[in-house]
Amino acid sequence: MQVVLLGPPGSGKGTQAVELSSRLGLFHLATGDILRQEVKNQTALGQEAKAFMEKGELVPDKLILAMVSSRLESGRDYLWDGFPRTEEQAVGLDALLAVRSSVVDIAVLLEVPDEVIVERISGRMFCPGCGANYHRQSKPPKKAGICDQCAKGLQVRPDDRAEVVENRLRVYRERTEPLVLFYEKKGILARVDGNRALQAVTADLATLLEKVRRGQKVLNG
Ligand code: AMP
Repeated sequence: MQVVLLGPPGSGKGTQAVELSSRLGLFHLATGDILRQEVKNQTALGQEAKAFMEKGELVPDKLILAMVSSRLESGRDYLWDGFPRTEEQAVGLDALLAVRSSVVDIAVLLEVPDEVIVERISGRMFCPGCGANYHRQSKPPKKAGICDQCAKGLQVRPDDRAEVVENRLRVYRERTEPLVLFYEKKGILARVDGNRALQAVTADLATLLEKVRRGQKVLNG
């Protein structure tokens, strides 16, 4: 089963993907996480990607598709998080899957209003040691600014700063939102209200994906 998670930055894709992939036994592939690792390791790809990421721009499609292609393994059920982000990437993913006799089964759009997104992103923090994510309001660490798991000092992602968030939202609207129509035309788009308690959203997503796995009809109309 191939699942694409769509949604604006801050819609909860990453958090939901971690939970869902472990519940459903899917392989979580987040291009943003891979890129941050490449930047940290100062690889050639990381050095090229860094400037785009810091400005909230998209890393060029060719680099992203090569990066995904080199990691894709046949026969694996993927939960795609933050990829595809452009129509060229979506077409590229279809082509990569086609040679492995696979297709995208469902694209789920997590819907969250803009004002909620800005509020959510502005409280985000992460641990540079173990990668755990926190939020000042919804998921605070036990001790302010310190990771519960490894006691390292928490940081704010450079692209979560307010001025960059605005650009990321603009880029999302221009480049990524057209994918809603792309998957709608294929008849595989499902919408989930992401503006609710985390667990309620996870429960709905899990039910939806279980149905897709059983081959049941999940879309209206
Ligand atoms: P994310 O963690 O998904 O919000 O991604 C962080 C940043 O990495 C984005 O703002 C982009 O600069 C870059 N990025 C991640 N995934 C992609 C992708 N599929 N295409 C282009 N750029 C990406």
